[in-house]
Amino acid sequence: MHYECIECGKTFPVSRRLYTCPECDSLLEIELDLEKVKEEVDRDSLENDPVTLWKYSPFMPVEDESNIVSLDEGGTPLYECDSLADWVGIDKLYVKYEGGNPTGSFKDRGMTIGVTKAIEYGVSTVTCASTGNTSSSLAAYSGKAGLDCLVLTPKGKVALGKLAQAALHGAKIIAVEDNFDRALELVRELTREREDIYLLNSINPFRPQGQKSIGFEIADQLGFQSPDRITIPMGNCANIWAVYKGFYEFNELDLVDGIPKMTGIQAGGSQPVVDAIKADEGTVTPETDPETVATAIRIGDPVNGPKALRAIRRTGGDAEGVTDDEIVEAQKMLARKEGIGVEPASATSIAGLKKMVENGDIDSDETVVSVVTGHILKDPEEAAEVSEKPIEVSAKYDELVKLVENNDGS
Ligand SMILES: *Cc1c(COP(=O)(O)O)cnc(C)c1O
Ligand SMILES: [Zn+2]
Repeated sequence: MHYECIECGKTFPVSRRLYTCPECDSLLEIELDLEKVKEEVDRDSLENDPVTLWKYSPFMPVEDESNIVSLDEGGTPLYECDSLADWVGIDKLYVKYEGGNPTGSFKDRGMTIGVTKAIEYGVSTVTCASTGNTSSSLAAYSGKAGLDCLVLTPKGKVALGKLAQAALHGAKIIAVEDNFDRALELVRELTREREDIYLLNSINPFRPQGQKSIGFEIADQLGFQSPDRITIPMGNCANIWAVYKGFYEFNELDLVDGIPKMTGIQAGGSQPVVDAIKADEGTVTPETDPETVATAIRIGDPVNGPKALRAIRRTGGDAEGVTDDEIVEAQKMLARKEGIGVEPASATSIAGLKKMVENGDIDSDETVVSVVTGHILKDPEEAAEVSEKPIEVSAKYDELVKLVENNDGS
């Protein structure tokens, strides 16, 4: 395996600790020797063992398996959602529920690899800038690995559940008086100066290597088939690339037949990649003042924008933006029709799907998998805020009966 620059194509050995291309500063990707992976894959256990990230270990860029730091991530449910499919207006809809991971988001798939690489590189401290979930996950995995954890967050903008997790798992949390994009700039500067601190934002090319297991699992759970389309939220845009990469590698090994159309959804107040796709631009122009209820994707300058554009264009995919009202409506439908509780960012993949079906951009006979990225309890304040409030009653039976009779069943 080696690093490969997505722009200039130069390759570098993974023995070097790199974040971006030393020649042109563009994004790096990890390329595996797929012939070797093919030899290591045991078809029988691949087809029969239960899904979990480490089931796909021949695809994981680890030097020595004894270094692996794992909390049994992955193996999340793929729900067949008929009621939601009716509401959205398509025949077949599956929801991949990433809230089922150890710390409640897909970030755990990236962190099992990222923190394992931190051990392999022999660093003592790991760090990230985070809208919340990256910090929760990094704090948990670094704690287990015995590493110090430093996280930078946009002050006052992190959902309560995420902040509580990062704090309880023992991260040193620094609340920066600016937005996520600035916090990321600061932490990138810090890790350029301080070689003892390893940066585990998704610009780190190892994290998507773990996250590509979302693609492996979807294929596996559908009986080694690719759906027609994947819809997925985009923030910093590593995940859409990662899922694409999973299907790409399975397709190269003939484990599936084709790669789904990768379709990224952003929140309207923060949709620079959607704008680039719709205007057919080669680059992403940052949004300077990103705003949305979906705090996990409240990112104006997505570092992995070039990877998102590639994943979408190479697969004939698409991108769409949705309003906060559409996000909250989809969040409620997931919760009420399917029993799937998600934080707002996750619901964009359903809100965007519905919009694109209504606009005629997606055919109703497509088989779609929507990735929902984080657990409802990540942002409990938002969930309570958008829902009906409890009805208060004095502790008298007559009063209770009146309330029950007034209830029209809605
Ligand atoms: C991180 C995150 C996203 C965005 O993923 P990117 O790889 O940054 O595009 C979406 N939803 C949730 C819940 C997240 O935590
Ligand atoms: Zn380069």
